[in-house]
Amino acid sequence: MNTQQLKAIGRDHGTPVVIVDHEAIRRNYADFRKHLPKVQAYYAVKANPAPEILRTLHQAGASFDVASLPEFMLVYELIKPLPPKEQQDFIWDKIIYANPTKPKETLRTLDRYKPLVTFDNLNELRKIKLYAPHAGLVLRLRVPNTGSVVELSSKFGCDPGEAVDLIEEAYRAGLEVEGISFHVGSQCTNFENFVQALNMAAAVINEARSRGHEIKILDIGGGFPAPYNRHVRPFSTLARKINAEINRLFAQDIQILAEPGRFLVATAATAIARIIGKAVRDGKICYYIDDSVYHTYSGIIFDHCPYHIKAFKKGKTEICAVFGQTCDGLDTISQSEELPDLEIEDFVYSEKIGAYSNASATWFNGFPPAKVVHVNT
Ligand SMILES: *Cc1c(COP(=O)(O)O)cnc(C)c1O
Repeated sequence: MNTQQLKAIGRDHGTPVVIVDHEAIRRNYADFRKHLPKVQAYYAVKANPAPEILRTLHQAGASFDVASLPEFMLVYELIKPLPPKEQQDFIWDKIIYANPTKPKETLRTLDRYKPLVTFDNLNELRKIKLYAPHAGLVLRLRVPNTGSVVELSSKFGCDPGEAVDLIEEAYRAGLEVEGISFHVGSQCTNFENFVQALNMAAAVINEARSRGHEIKILDIGGGFPAPYNRHVRPFSTLARKINAEINRLFAQDIQILAEPGRFLVATAATAIARIIGKAVRDGKICYYIDDSVYHTYSGIIFDHCPYHIKAFKKGKTEICAVFGQTCDGLDTISQSEELPDLEIEDFVYSEKIGAYSNASATWFNGFPPAKVVHVNT
C-alpha cells in the first residue's frame, strides 16, 4: 500500500489503526509453498489470530498450528465444513496442537477430536494417556536456537538422547508417536539452526526405526525470519538449505510440515498512530503517540522487535524519542528515531507490524487496542 492510501485509512477510521493487507498474506503463503514445495504450512495462530487472517490462509490452502483450546476451537470452526463425513474425523492434515504442555481439562476436551498433539516429557505423556488417549503424538526435540531473536530451547523440547526412550515409553503405554518436531527459535537468521535440527531429527528417526518404530511426520516448526531489515538473508536461501537436507536425510514418503507464524503475517500489517504530545527533554524532541507498548507495539517488549516510526511528512530529520500514550515509563517505543519536525495531530506509521503485535495488546491504563482494518480480503 502507498502512503496516500495509508493516510486515507488513518483519516477515515481514526487512530490508532492497524491495516492488514491480505494480498501480502497470500503472497507470503505462496512464497513459502513455492520455495518449500514438500512442506505443508501450518500457520502458527498465536502470531496473529484475527479470524479474517485465518480465513484468508485457509482459503489459500494453509493448515494451522494452535497452542490453546480457544485457538483450537477458532480453527476447528473454520475447517469443520468438510464433507464427506468420514473426513471430518481426521483433522491432522489441518490442525496440530503444538503446545507441549496442556492442562488436563484441555486434553479431556481435545480427545473427542482425535487431535495431533506435541509433548516433550514423561509427565505429559502420562497426562495424554489418561485424558486424551485418542490423540496422535508428536515428540518435540530440543534443538540449538543460536542467534534466534526469541529463544525457546530452555523451555521446550526433550534432549535428543532421551527421544527414543520416550517413543518406546509411549508405545508401552499404548500410544503412538507419529512425528518428530522442533523449533529453532523465532526470527531465526542463523540458518545453520535448521540444518542442525534436521540432522538431529533424522538421527532420532533412524534410531527409532532400528528399534521398530516408524516415524511418519516431520514437523520443522517455525522461526522463518521476516525481512524486517536488509540484514535478513532471503527466504529462498534458507529454503534451499532446508530442501537439500530434507532430500538428503529423509525417506521420500515422510510427511513434512512447518509452523510458520511471523513469516506469513509480519509484513502484511502497518500501524498508524497520531502524535498527541510533543516536548523537549535534555535537548531531545519527544513525541507522544496514541498507541503504546501495551498495545500495537507490545512486540517491542514480548517479541524483542524494534519497530521504527516513520513520518508521512518530509523534511530535515533529527534524532527524537517516541513514547506511548500510557503513564508507564516502560512505555517507550524508541529513544532514537530519525524524524522531521512534526506537530500534534500529525500521523506516523510503522511497517511490518503484523506478527506478535496486536496479538498481545492489552487494555492497560484503560486504552483499548487499536482498530484493525483488513484490506484486499
Ligand atoms: C510460536 C510458535 C511457532 C511460530 O513461530 P514463528 O517464529 O512465528 O514462525 C511455531 N511453532 C510453535 C510450537 C510455536 O510456539
